[in-house]
Amino acid sequence: MASKDKGLHFIEDIVASDLSSGRVKEVRLRFPPEPNGHLHLGHVKAIYLNYELARIYGGKCHLRFDDTNPLRESAGYADAIKSDIDWLGYATQKTTYTSDYFEAMYDCACRLISQGKAYVDDHSGDTFARLFKGSPTTAGKESPYRNRSVKDNLALFAAMRKGDFPDESRTLRAKIRMNDPNMHMRDPIMYRIKHASHWRTKDAWCVYPMYDYAHPIADALEGITHSLCTLEFEVHRPLYEWFLAQLPDLSAPRQIEFARLSVAYHLLSKRKTDVMIQRKWVSGWHDPRVPSLVGLRARGYSASALKAFVQRTGISKRNSLSEPSLLAWAARKELNMRAPRRMAVLKPIALKIKNWPAGHTEWLEAANNPEDAASGMRPLACTGSLWIDEEDFNIDPPAKYFRLAPGREVRLKYGYIIRCEDYEIDAQSGRVLAVICSYDATTRSGTEGARKKVKGTLSWVDATHSFGVEIRTYEALFSCPDADSRTDWEQYHNPHS
Ligand code: ATP
Ligand code: MG
Repeated sequence: MASKDKGLHFIEDIVASDLSSGRVKEVRLRFPPEPNGHLHLGHVKAIYLNYELARIYGGKCHLRFDDTNPLRESAGYADAIKSDIDWLGYATQKTTYTSDYFEAMYDCACRLISQGKAYVDDHSGDTFARLFKGSPTTAGKESPYRNRSVKDNLALFAAMRKGDFPDESRTLRAKIRMNDPNMHMRDPIMYRIKHASHWRTKDAWCVYPMYDYAHPIADALEGITHSLCTLEFEVHRPLYEWFLAQLPDLSAPRQIEFARLSVAYHLLSKRKTDVMIQRKWVSGWHDPRVPSLVGLRARGYSASALKAFVQRTGISKRNSLSEPSLLAWAARKELNMRAPRRMAVLKPIALKIKNWPAGHTEWLEAANNPEDAASGMRPLACTGSLWIDEEDFNIDPPAKYFRLAPGREVRLKYGYIIRCEDYEIDAQSGRVLAVICSYDATTRSGTEGARKKVKGTLSWVDATHSFGVEIRTYEALFSCPDADSRTDWEQYHNPHS
């Protein structure tokens, strides 16, 4: 979020000017997840945007469960979403449910019918689309049911609600224009029949409102002032505004679109995550490779790092791909300040100091966190028999290689300068088994002798005073940066992630 001194992003601009012109008295926003999966990194952007704007301008942000699709939603997902938002550090001021407005939405639909602005169509959605919808380049045609009387429409809609008709047999449609250049304005569906039990309303309803109809009404009923959504809803905005224009007694929220967050080599969508889980590419939503909040938490990301990341990606009107390195940057920046340092080697090879006094253990001193003096020092044992990382030694070093190589000197971090005298290799595999070094006893870190300069410093662990740990390293789940926007995204799964 841009702070006042850094200048406003375009949505903050709109909010600020609506407040100063008096169009809006108090900012009221909402975050409207559908409880059909866990939240992901993209949702953090929407949450951050809405909750921070409400905070900065002393307004409110509702958590609204957008629960209009009974088949895919559950109380379990709703609970998980709440706990994710808590974890991000946003206390929910008010939790609402679109399903709480089903009765009010039904009444509004009846009003639209009475005004001649909605009708019951006796085709399935698919059949209507095929026969009447037209295409982006050709106008649509009017359905034969379009000019039913208000009385018949009201009776049929009541019968739909009562459960008199099977799924897909009819829809309630807005009566707008079948030749509108915007396909979304060609008599869009308001209600469909679905004989399905809903996790909150149970079997009270067998007609369910479509997003495009339900969303503006829920926003208006809650007195939302700015309804922020992602860019793909820009083409739906005329419809959002059309519904509200037919119901002038309701408040008129303003829909504003912003570019969604996309991260290179990562897939965010809940539907695609479900597919990845089914294919067993990941173990579930909590898998540390999945960019869900529970996955990212398992990976070790903190809430503040995720917020720093989405803040850095900014709010704009243009879709783009964010680099995963920016996410790593956000985590490192924070860990750098607060995480205690420990040395580890991932691919150990032995390093023996041949002039080390036999049986001698020397206690060196290491900073717990060089960025944080208050974190103090810790003792670090050295017995002259160590492990270093395979990548820190090279028999035939390339140019600008400043680590260990035959005849070269480096410093052991917090310890002495050593010089590589020899090495042992496995005759069969050619792998380095051990590096033989000498050390210069006058060069201990933190002493006068430490002034001697060498180009490289190596991490190491002592062979006796170290212990084995499980270290998890990950690659991205996809090998193509924009896999998310491709229909053949499954082709780019990285089996070695
Ligand atoms: P998905 O496609 O992953 O299932 P969705 O948009 O269907 O996501 P919702 O639960 O409907 O998920 O989204 C809740 C809110 O979060 C919406 O306002 C939506 O615009 C926003 N949102 C979803 N994905 C992103 C994203 N990648 N970047 C920014 N905002 C997002
Ligand atoms: Mg959705």
